[in-house]
Amino acid sequence: MKAVCAWCRAEGRPGLIGERPPFGDPAEVRGICWAHKLEVLARTRTSSGAATSPPRDEHVRFLVIVARRDSDLFHRVSEQFLDDPRVRVLLDRRHRERRQGGQPSGRERRRADRRRSADYWEDTRYHPVVIVPVQKTTDASRVLQTPRRQFVPEVTPMDFDALMQARRQLDQWTRDGQDILSTVIPSLFQECEGLRRRAESAEAHSARLGLEIEDLQSEITRLRAEIDRQKLEASAAVDTVDKGLSEIGRITTEVLLKLKGR
Ligand SMILES: [Zn+2]
Repeated sequence: MKAVCAWCRAEGRPGLIGERPPFGDPAEVRGICWAHKLEVLARTRTSSGAATSPPRDEHVRFLVIVARRDSDLFHRVSEQFLDDPRVRVLLDRRHRERRQGGQPSGRERRRADRRRSADYWEDTRYHPVVIVPVQKTTDASRVLQTPRRQFVPEVTPMDFDALMQARRQLDQWTRDGQDILSTVIPSLFQECEGLRRRAESAEAHSARLGLEIEDLQSEITRLRAEIDRQKLEASAAVDTVDKGLSEIGRITTEVLLKLKGR
């Protein structure tokens, strides 16, 4: 199986970590390379480096184990985490102890391969540096105080995996955030700008309508006054006609009386 670093890939590099058991399987399995793990560990440090007392075993939460073949790297990594009380940097002892048993039989090797495949990510034969989270502070104390025993800490990869998962999630959020900044927000701005222009033109339109309504209202007032005036004139005309008719009536009566008087 091919092991590749997902973060190296994300950064555009091949990120090949190496072959891992079961060998010969062309499938690819993704993980995080030791360099990226160390980077996260360094980034998440809480100590300011101003510690006055030497770090105590119960503070140790991660064991950084450097392969025996790489003592330069051991010194470099040791220096890097010198003031981080969470981290204890060790040279691997397991390698030497395994070698002392001589060549294992084919069956033993197969069994060992199966066993190792479970802790591939914590095996210094595959990685120059491995990071092993310490489950409990007592484990760290026990492991650190008994250096001659074979080093098999009771650890769970959960802590570190959770940390890695969180970091990946943060990276994803950061990328999403950049997407939002670079694409979503500008388009929102454009949309806002469009809406603002539409609102402005609607306001201008409504202002124009308001003026027109005022005009119409004064026109209505003027027409109402006109109607009132014409009503008055009409009623005055009716009065005049009434008067005229009664006058005609009076004159007619007078004329008839005079004719009868003759
Ligand atoms: Zn990587």
